[in-house]
Amino acid sequence: MIANNYYHNSINEADYYFVKQQCENTFKQNKFSEGDQNIKIRNIRKDFPILERKINGYNLVWLDNAATTQKPLCVTESLNRYYKEYNSNVHRGAHTLAKEATEEYESARKKVQKFIGSSSPEEIIFLRGATEAINLVANTYGNMIINGQDEILVSQMEHHSNIVPWQMLCHKKGSRIVPIPINDKGEIILEEYEKLFSPRTKMVAITQVSNVLGTINPIREIVAIAHSHGVCVLVDGAQAAPHLSTDVRELDADFYTLSGHKMYGPTGIGVLYGKKALLDSMPPWQGGGGMIKDVDFDKTVYMDLPYKFEAGTGNIADAVALGTAVDYIEEIGMNNIECHEQELTKYAMEALSAIKGSYTIGNAYNKTSVLSFILDGVSPQKMAELLDSEGIAVRAGHHCAQPVLKHFGLSSTLRASIGLYNTYEDIDALVKGIIKHRYKS
Ligand code: PMP
Repeated sequence: MIANNYYHNSINEADYYFVKQQCENTFKQNKFSEGDQNIKIRNIRKDFPILERKINGYNLVWLDNAATTQKPLCVTESLNRYYKEYNSNVHRGAHTLAKEATEEYESARKKVQKFIGSSSPEEIIFLRGATEAINLVANTYGNMIINGQDEILVSQMEHHSNIVPWQMLCHKKGSRIVPIPINDKGEIILEEYEKLFSPRTKMVAITQVSNVLGTINPIREIVAIAHSHGVCVLVDGAQAAPHLSTDVRELDADFYTLSGHKMYGPTGIGVLYGKKALLDSMPPWQGGGGMIKDVDFDKTVYMDLPYKFEAGTGNIADAVALGTAVDYIEEIGMNNIECHEQELTKYAMEALSAIKGSYTIGNAYNKTSVLSFILDGVSPQKMAELLDSEGIAVRAGHHCAQPVLKHFGLSSTLRASIGLYNTYEDIDALVKGIIKHRYKS
C-alpha cells in the first residue's frame, strides 16, 4: 500500500529551490543538458506549432503526452497532402490515384514493420488503435484457445483496454483472469508471476510501459517465462513505442500493439503486430470487403495476411501519416529521444518529490516519462484545474487503469507525462505551479 511507496518530503519552499539547484547541477553534467541539446529541442519544438499556443494568457506547457502527443507539421502536412493530391481507396482500382494511395499505404506499413523490428509487412495489421488490436486478439486467438477453467494472466498495472477484452472473453467462456502482482514501487514481482503458471494458463497480457506508473516491464524475461510454459504473450506497446526502441523479435513478443496518436501520429490509427504463424492460424475477426478472395453464399475464401484482418475501407490517410510520424521519430533518433526523456523523468521525479506534502506513485527502478503523484490537501482534479489556469496541461483521474490505482489505495492521481519536445523549463513550470497553488489552496 501507499505507506511504503512514496517520496514524502517535508522541506519548505526555500529548501525546494536549494534541492532544485542541486538537481540542476547534477543534470547539467550530462550530455543531454549541454547547450547543443537544448538548441536541438528548441528546433524540434518549432515543428509543433500548437506548442506556441497561449492558454489563459500563458505559454502552453503540454505534459499530457501519455493521453496523446502533439503532431509535428510533417504529420499534419502528410494528412493534407493525401486529401489534396491522391485521395483514393486502396487496392481496388486500376487508376493512378488508387495506385498512389496504395503505394503510400503499403509504404507506411513497411515503415512500421521496420520501426518495431518485425520481419515482414504481413505481420503488420492496421487498426483503429491499441484497443482495437487487443480486442482483435481476444476475439480470434483468445476465442480459439481459451475454454472452461482456463486462465489469462494480466498484470495489475494494465490499462482497461488490456483488461476488459480478456474479461469479456472469460465471461463468455467461463474462464478467469489472474492478476500478476506488483510491488509497492510499481514493478512486476517476477517470482510471483512465475508461480502463477499452471496447465490452465493459456495467455499472458502485459504492458511494456505503464501509463500510470511509467514502469518499464522486463518484457524479455516475462515472455521467456511464458514461453517456457508454452503460453503466448500479448505486449501492449501503446506507451512504450514513443519512448523506447522496440524490437519485437528481440522481445520475442507473440503480439504487440501500437497506438498512432501516442507516437506523434494521428488518432484513429493503430497497429497489431503478430507472429506470422500465429496470425495465419487465426480466423478473421470482422468480415466484409477487402479481406476476401472469393465470396459465394455458402462459402468465402479469405485474403492472405495482413488483409485477412483489415475488413472494409481502412483509415488510409491516418496510416500514411503514421508512416510520416515514424520517419520523424527516426530522424530525431530513438536513442536521443530515450536519453532526453530519461533525464527529464529523473529531473521531474527529484523535483516533484521535493515538494512538501507530495507523494509520487510509481517509483520503479526502470521507468520512463510518466509521473503520477498526489498532494496533501488538494484533489488531483482541483490541482489540474489550477495548473490549467496557467497553461499547464496535466491529467487528473484514474487514467483508465483503476486496478492499479486501487492497489495503491487511490481512485485518482495527477499525471504529468513527458514527450520528446518537453524541456527542463516545462518541468520547472509544473513544479512552480504546484508550489504556488499548493500553499494557496
Ligand atoms: N494501452 C495503454 C497502456 C494506453 O495508455 C492506452 C491509451 N491510454 C491504450 C492501451 C489504448 O490506446 P487507444 O485508446 O489509442 O486504443
